[in-house]
Amino acid sequence: MNVNALIDGELVAGELAHEVILNPATGQAIASVAECSPQQIAAAVRAAQEGQRNWSRTVPRERAAALLAIADHLDQNAEDYARLESLNCGKPYHLALGDELPAVADVFRFFAGAIRCMPGSAAGEYLPGHTSMIRRQSVGVVASIAPWNYPLMMMAWKIAPAIVAGNAVVLKPSEMTPLSALKLAAFASQVLPRGVLNVVTGRGASAGQALISDPRVRMISLTGDIGTGRKMLEAAASGMKRTHLELGGKAPVIVFDDADVTAVVEAVRAFGFYNAGQDCTAACRVYAGPKIYERLVAELASAVSGIRIGEQDDPAVEMGPLISARHLERVAGFVERAAGLPHAEVLCGGKAAAGDGFFYLPTVIAGARQQDEIVRREVFGPVVTVTRFSDEEEVIRWANDSEYGLASSVWTQDVGRAMRVAAELEYGCTWVNTHFMLVSEMPHGGMKQSGYGKDMSMYGLEDYTTVRHVMVKHGSSQ
Ligand code: NAD
Repeated sequence: MNVNALIDGELVAGELAHEVILNPATGQAIASVAECSPQQIAAAVRAAQEGQRNWSRTVPRERAAALLAIADHLDQNAEDYARLESLNCGKPYHLALGDELPAVADVFRFFAGAIRCMPGSAAGEYLPGHTSMIRRQSVGVVASIAPWNYPLMMMAWKIAPAIVAGNAVVLKPSEMTPLSALKLAAFASQVLPRGVLNVVTGRGASAGQALISDPRVRMISLTGDIGTGRKMLEAAASGMKRTHLELGGKAPVIVFDDADVTAVVEAVRAFGFYNAGQDCTAACRVYAGPKIYERLVAELASAVSGIRIGEQDDPAVEMGPLISARHLERVAGFVERAAGLPHAEVLCGGKAAAGDGFFYLPTVIAGARQQDEIVRREVFGPVVTVTRFSDEEEVIRWANDSEYGLASSVWTQDVGRAMRVAAELEYGCTWVNTHFMLVSEMPHGGMKQSGYGKDMSMYGLEDYTTVRHVMVKHGSSQ
């Protein structure tokens, strides 16, 4: 297991205090990772700046080859990565292996192809006697700050488009889940020139803050909390740094009376509780039409009570623990406050599971109202609320009445209604009769306080480039 940072092509131990890394399923220590000092972070940024100069001059084919090598390595070592990811995050191993690893490798492959066929606007004569062209070029050094819920996937979403576009990256994984990023960094150092990728360790307020404040950093990319996003903007303001923010979510799931209730129940059971609900697109805020409300609530509660929770290695386990004792307490607090409301009813779960791990039982809360904290705030845990609505206009208003704007879904058999509602929703993504589906070719990102950076797709690649104009005067003809 690599617990060293990657700085200027070398694996080096952090110089400051050690963070004990826990297995969330047992609460036991699995590793200890030392925090990088401000000097080490400065060295990583310096190495990135130096490495970037030559890297940005390479041709797309060469940069794509490095990403393809990383994708092949992930495929060949998928079991090791899935084991480490599930150990560090508590995820069921079979899901990390079957769902996440193929998607992570695909992100590297997608961007390897995308950079070789990046579209641009036409070159031409817009002033007589002059030819103009647009160049899309790298930005420089990118500071990438990742969360703990999908450590390897977030690393892929951040480093693949940035590096393939000719930037150099200093990535800081979450202090709670650095292990898979450090493992991949050790391999990537063999296929990327020195300094093109650096991975530093440590907490947000210290190591993270030092990184984003470095004046040589030209762009800050964060996936994290809204509050952390604000800190990025403050740090970016003085140096006019570019920002790419992917913040939280509170996805509305709008179920009209004509929806296929069985399909809705199946999807909410799967995608409200995937990764123990620690997902910014989790299907957590259900709005049910008046005629199907009772049936949906009853069938959902029964389906969710059957979700099998447990430790990583059991192939029958569907849901693991929360990431930490602190987060468990936070989730429990939300549910306790909701349970105290006279109109809300906790139909299943509603408490932590017995044992040393950070497990919280899958929870369904019926009768929740639009103004309730549990409907408005991001819980980031295995908790789904169901709220009854009366008509289309009301549910669109409620769905949009949120500071978040990342993902949403609409469930109906009526195509016209689906199109109409999808057009009205203020969310980066709206799924119709499904939820949670992501593909590398399509953008993932938010509106409003969920941020504005796009991950994956050509839009993600564009976010890590800058548009330049080059104009050539023709001179007199003979
Ligand atoms: P967080 O904001 O607490 O931490 C994210 C990262 O930011 C960590 O690496 C942390 O160390 C770092 N950080 C914190 N303060 C910092 C500072 N002052 N300077 C620099 N770095 C700092 O978020 P989290 O708890 O790790 O993750 C959960 C959050 O992430 C949720 O709100 C979730 O919705 C969001 N999220 C969003 C998406 C998306 O695609 N939009 C995806 C996954 C998670």
